[in-house]
Amino acid sequence: MKLVSFRVGGEGRIGILRGDRVFDLSKADPGLPRCLRGLLEMGAEGLRRAALAAEGELEALALDQVELLPPVPKPEKIICVGLNYADHAAESGMRPPREPVIFNKLPTTLRGSGDPIVLPELSQEVDYEAELVVVIGIGGRAVPRDKALAHVAGYMCGNDVSARDWQKGKPGGQWLLGKSFDSFAPTGPALVTSDEVGDPGKLRIQCRLNHRLVQDSCTDQLIFPVAELIAYVSRVATLTPGDLIFTGTPPGVGMARTPPLYLHPGDLVEVEIERVGLLRNRVAGPPLASVE
Ligand code: ZN
Repeated sequence: MKLVSFRVGGEGRIGILRGDRVFDLSKADPGLPRCLRGLLEMGAEGLRRAALAAEGELEALALDQVELLPPVPKPEKIICVGLNYADHAAESGMRPPREPVIFNKLPTTLRGSGDPIVLPELSQEVDYEAELVVVIGIGGRAVPRDKALAHVAGYMCGNDVSARDWQKGKPGGQWLLGKSFDSFAPTGPALVTSDEVGDPGKLRIQCRLNHRLVQDSCTDQLIFPVAELIAYVSRVATLTPGDLIFTGTPPGVGMARTPPLYLHPGDLVEVEIERVGLLRNRVAGPPLASVE
């Protein structure tokens, strides 16, 4: 299933994406929670009921009639992995790490497919990072590596948008803030359930900037694969349904280019992952200063 969160007539709902149509699960089974995190918190029962409702007569809306939200609009955690592709570590001037490099983004960064990435006035070096995003379905602590994939509800495309002049230029490196300006985490368009994606270690991942291919790799290049990331992080923090893990970006980011290739107003950034979908976001200029 391709699960989406969307808004129509000012009301938040969940649905299933099929082609360019959205089927309203909140109408098909009004007893289901109206947010995907709530559905995931129901465990296997939630996904089973969604699948059952999807078999019935569902009300379909055209994709362009609805406002897509981030599939999981309010996760408890957004966990990110740095330098998880060996050749991206090299282009960043870093050695491949011996253990995963973990940081996070604030949940206010989340946006859906079609929402703008808003350039902040405070940065001149905003960069793209195409990433496979894991959505946790079953929470847990100290999850063994060989059972870790059973804890995954599904996958999304993500863009770990990064202000390099904050991440690298500020004293000590402001990873959290440099990656947490509002709108710096587009995800979607859908949460594609694990059964449809199959092996998360064999997916082609690409980023296009204004239709030019700038990143092109495969998740078989991950230094620390999805199962290992879940095992590693859950030794420290209890994972809960709806938690997101951004798994790192392949080579080709803007800061590693000569000259650097940073985002400008009007740019179109597309992240495409095999079997997971196509996430599309325009870049907008800084918001106008408020006038007294
Ligand atoms: Zn990243």
